Amino acid sequence: MKILVINCGSSSIKYKLYSFPKRRLIAGGLVEKVGQNGSDIKSHKEGVEAIIAKLIDEKVVRDLKEIVAVGHRVVHGGETFCVPHLVDKAVIKKMKECAELAPLHNPANLAGIIACKEFFPSIAHVAVFDTSFHQSIPKHAYMYALPIEYYKKYGIRRYGFHGASHQFVAHQCARILKKPYNKLKLITCHLGNGCSITAINKGKSVDTSMGFTPLEGLVMGTRSGDIDPAVAFYIMEKENLSYHEMDEILNRKSGLVGISGVSNDMRDIVNGAKKGHKRCKLALDIFIYRIKKYIGAYHLILGGADAICFTGGIGENNKQMISGIKKDISKAIKTKVLVVPTDEELMIANLTFKLIESDKQ
Ligand code: ADP
Repeated sequence: MKILVINCGSSSIKYKLYSFPKRRLIAGGLVEKVGQNGSDIKSHKEGVEAIIAKLIDEKVVRDLKEIVAVGHRVVHGGETFCVPHLVDKAVIKKMKECAELAPLHNPANLAGIIACKEFFPSIAHVAVFDTSFHQSIPKHAYMYALPIEYYKKYGIRRYGFHGASHQFVAHQCARILKKPYNKLKLITCHLGNGCSITAINKGKSVDTSMGFTPLEGLVMGTRSGDIDPAVAFYIMEKENLSYHEMDEILNRKSGLVGISGVSNDMRDIVNGAKKGHKRCKLALDIFIYRIKKYIGAYHLILGGADAICFTGGIGENNKQMISGIKKDISKAIKTKVLVVPTDEELMIANLTFKLIESDKQ
């Protein structure tokens, strides 16, 4: 049976097609510039149509009936979705309610679901939420120390993201360590353009560095990660900035690009630092320091870890950085350090397969 995974961004659609139960990848690609000026692809519906046409043109599928389910990545599931869900009218309604929490992502995810349902009306569509893996985080870790009314009125709390990636590498670690998944204590570090660290106890997320939005926590390509919130008010007042302008600074002009003034891409930062560019070196130092700080905190919270695992474009490829961090870890902590490639789409496909199989019973 074939399972299609769709990851709809605001202007792009990533897709992968797997054959189950062998979990074999048979096709994949990216449709870009969806709905942008001058693009042939005017909407998510046209994007999905283009993907289907390509799969048929390339004879990856002969008949659309071969596809038995579509797994959809959805960024925010709020407190409503703790596990993947089969998409029906009620689920779509609840997803619309969650969209307020992720206005840039959830509407695009939903557009993808609605488009796919038109092309595949009679098969299972499964929504897999980035946040749901972190719904096991205890209240003392997910609550902010703000007046509690804001949690009650607006759902202000830490949600965490990159759930599929943390969950995928945690399962891979269980295999590598030959230990049952639900007995594992892990610290998983997803270091890509977005970066987050998760503490996993008995296979469940108990804390994670991203918060109400993906802005909190580690230093990222363009995001600041943790700062004193008073800094934002101070800059807004001094520079006479609007809320949106400040949001843009924190989400798009900070992090590696903000400190280095060179790039948000780690490869450029590493090259710059090697050539003696001081701000690149500083960006690298702050990036690594923040990672070590979270690892230390999560190690104490977990009371030890079976392994600390690195993944994502930086975690998987920047060997020099990871071996430096590994050296520092070994000075303080006795634990294994692993590098495990992530595959969020395969995790979504696995969860989709599991759900449709259990639904049959
Ligand atoms: P996304 O979060 O968008 O999925 P990726 O996981 O692909 O992103 O990670 C992108 C980051 O990985 C970029 O900062 C890129 O520079 C970095 N990266 C990729 N290859 C290397 C490498 N060989 N050395 C250092 N950084 C790398």
